[in-house]
Amino acid sequence: MSGHDAVDVIRAKRDGGRLSDGQIDWVLDAYTRGEVADEQMSALAMAILLQGMDRREIARWTGAMIASGQRLDFESANLGRPTADKHSTGGVGDKITLPLAPLVAACGVAVPQLSGRGLGHTGGTLDKLESIPGWRAELTYEQIVEQLRSSGGVICAATGEIAPADRKLYALRDVTGTVESIPLIASSIMSKKIAEGTAALVLDVKVGSGAFMKNVGDASELARTMVELGTDAGVRTVALLTQMEVPLGRTAGNALEVAESVRVLSGGGPADVVELTLALAREMLAAAGVTGVDPAEKLDDGSAMDVWRAMISAQGGDPAAPLPTAAETHVVVAPEAGYVTSMDAYAVGVAAWRLGAGRARQGDAVSAGAGVVMHAKPGDRVQRGDPIFSLHTDEATRFERALDVLNGQWGIGPDAPEPMPLILGRIDSQGL
Ligand code: URA
Repeated sequence: MSGHDAVDVIRAKRDGGRLSDGQIDWVLDAYTRGEVADEQMSALAMAILLQGMDRREIARWTGAMIASGQRLDFESANLGRPTADKHSTGGVGDKITLPLAPLVAACGVAVPQLSGRGLGHTGGTLDKLESIPGWRAELTYEQIVEQLRSSGGVICAATGEIAPADRKLYALRDVTGTVESIPLIASSIMSKKIAEGTAALVLDVKVGSGAFMKNVGDASELARTMVELGTDAGVRTVALLTQMEVPLGRTAGNALEVAESVRVLSGGGPADVVELTLALAREMLAAAGVTGVDPAEKLDDGSAMDVWRAMISAQGGDPAAPLPTAAETHVVVAPEAGYVTSMDAYAVGVAAWRLGAGRARQGDAVSAGAGVVMHAKPGDRVQRGDPIFSLHTDEATRFERALDVLNGQWGIGPDAPEPMPLILGRIDSQGL
């Protein structure tokens, strides 16, 4: 007998109390084992969303989720180079992991990037890579270590043993309106990242309509909470706050984003994707203690591209194979000449999702070719009739609902809008 009772734990948090270490350890363990029921955990998650948790509670909650599974250890794998990982809280057109992992690996850091599949309006990294013919996401720990030795970078699926309590709880939060809680988001992300065994971690906390956090205040609080959790767990952790009012780059959709990432690795690609990739690469190198390497040179000299090809081939993919394309396209054109003044990230994300690029439920299939190409972005000058968006889908019946969500969510005017900075802030352990 543990002496704990789920209803007492729920009542304590409902009434604004602090949960004891014993209560937290017990409730997460009992939930993972199925002893605490989904409806009880839903009530507790809602109480936490409404009442919050303090720093001690969040750290304990995170620790209990890590303890529910396996903690990987790359230190003892003797890779001969430091490890660093990046996590983004999710944004529309955010394909940065794809060029970033090989780039940082080309700079001498091992990048074990364990990723997820997308749910809702932001795409998942694995869904994007799975559009490459033959590429497979599932690797064992031994295969991850082997690939880190051979090519320096791995992007693969997190194994089922990483924070199983979070896996179960995140799925429950998703269907009970309890995702949007800073303590629950921070502990969910950090339990997985700490359990994945990286020594250094850079967080890209997105701010704006296409992100979880709609304003800088909330994003800063989330970033600070995650930097505290990482630092307390011995992981050198830094966060950048970055703009997500407007989608990142020129594409949202799986194969479309892979193609854009390959353009970045070839030394081209959209300026914002290149800027953020380099900024995050520099943070990862600094956090890993690597100095004197300029990631921009590794893009220019083709070494990041060489690592990309090696990473894709090692996981069964053919980096030279043509990417899948959607059967149907529809072009939205400028109704008048002027400057593009706005383009709402959330609307573009939902449009890509409705075109088939995302899933409504865990386990649904996604379309590799579906998505949105943005031919013009805020600040660009266009003539009447110039293309603004191309919508790509396998089923033409999907166009109408995608067009509906874009309607009124972008604009053209006579004056160029104020340029929006991409990087809005930085939080490290010194600033806590
Ligand atoms: N991503 C996660 O992994 N967990 C959350 O709670 C939110 C986003």
